[in-house]
Amino acid sequence: MSALNSKDLHVQGVAQLAKMLREKDVSAVEATQHFIARIRQNDGLGAFLSVNEDAALDAARAADARIASGNAGALEGVPIAHKDIFVTKDAPTTAGSKMLEGYRSPFDATVVTKLAQAGAVSLGKLNCDEFAMGSSNENSAYKPVKNPWDVSRIPGGSSGGSAAAVAARLLPAVTGTDTGGSIRQPASFCGITGIKPTYGRASRYGMIAFASSLDQAGPMAVSAEDCALLLSQMCGPDPDRDSTSLDVPAEDFSLRLNDSLEGLRIGIPKEFFGEGLAPDVRAAIDAALAEYRKLGATLVDITLPRTELSIPVYYIIAPAEASSNLSRFDGVKFGHRAKAYDDLTDMYRKTRAEGFGDEVKRRIMIGTYVLSHGYYDAYYLQAQKIRRMIANDFQSAFEQCDVIAGPVAPTVAWKLGDKADDPVANYLADIFTLPGSLAGLPGMSVPCGFGEGGMPVGLQLIGNYFGEARLLNAAHRFQQATDFHLRRPEGF
Ligand code: GLN
Repeated sequence: MSALNSKDLHVQGVAQLAKMLREKDVSAVEATQHFIARIRQNDGLGAFLSVNEDAALDAARAADARIASGNAGALEGVPIAHKDIFVTKDAPTTAGSKMLEGYRSPFDATVVTKLAQAGAVSLGKLNCDEFAMGSSNENSAYKPVKNPWDVSRIPGGSSGGSAAAVAARLLPAVTGTDTGGSIRQPASFCGITGIKPTYGRASRYGMIAFASSLDQAGPMAVSAEDCALLLSQMCGPDPDRDSTSLDVPAEDFSLRLNDSLEGLRIGIPKEFFGEGLAPDVRAAIDAALAEYRKLGATLVDITLPRTELSIPVYYIIAPAEASSNLSRFDGVKFGHRAKAYDDLTDMYRKTRAEGFGDEVKRRIMIGTYVLSHGYYDAYYLQAQKIRRMIANDFQSAFEQCDVIAGPVAPTVAWKLGDKADDPVANYLADIFTLPGSLAGLPGMSVPCGFGEGGMPVGLQLIGNYFGEARLLNAAHRFQQATDFHLRRPEGF
């Protein structure tokens, strides 16, 4: 390694690291070894469910060979890791559940394949809430994840391992998934950048399904610039494998990062600034909005009148879909099977009772109930109707503005255990991320300050359909003017 001390590798973003690799300032093998060592040193954070050293070193050697022969991909040799909800051939996939303990997928998720084709080297699988159900990562069947900014606090969820890994600089970038906020909220709580694209832009093939009409993959990294590099490789049609993948070509999301924000109209939904918003979070958001004004944007008051309804609507639709999706985990096709049982029904019952955790069982029960004859019309159908109204509300708002801004979450990350026995308290904290999810809109979290206990605060930016490039541009310009995304928790 020439100019650079290997100890500094982890403070490089994806863009710099990719350049150093291409210019052979560092080899992919050295980078992989460096990050694996960091992952091992910081095992106590609980960010990883498995680390795949041998496969990673093989992939790194292949990356070095491509660099040597001048065939480097956009992310050649860049170490990443995947949320353990993406299936992977070379590593175990658990979805954070005992149900899939020991499971090996015979194929890779499309997103995993695409990032590998771009040259990224996967080092392992990241901890998450069981089947991506949760807001604190405490629903992982294996272990909780600690927030690197304060290890007595949660990192957010469900992509908590992903967010903690980037915040602690165990990796420059990772994948996550967002059904109702699971990229944006942990990114906010851990002080990193994350984006969920428009529903249908990234293939869901091989992403273990939670709520299929909501689930989307996205990148999490230090900066918007780095998220753009990953997202550009993750999107694109996958018609043979995901029927909901949209026929919209992959895009280079880096092209418009530096566009001027002069004249950008930022909609401020009044419902996102009500009583429930903690004063420390509000102060950071207000300061960020003032910064956007300085950058040339105008702030426009808008209304998203059904914001509150997004909680009951989401917590009907998501469990309904989950109850159907999770019926495949029956002890026959995948993973866990109870050891002792009397007959087939008893095998199903015991397998599912042993394999699923409390939150997953709760959602299967709620979902089965709202889909049952007699309640379908009263709950599920009503929720679908309001979901459409919420999507329409956004379209009315976008007549007055180009992007929408507000908090990601009402508070900073709470203490481990604080809401662990209170599912409703967890659900309520999703209020600002659920509306955009229900509408299928792209959304991101951008580090914008610090609140109570020195904990990071994220600014949420929501765009109209296919507005990812605009969002990343707005985030990048903000990050050129501020350094919140570059600050690191002490000791990392
Ligand atoms: N917190 C939400 C839930 O528990 C969102 C999870 C997600 O986006 N996967 O369902």
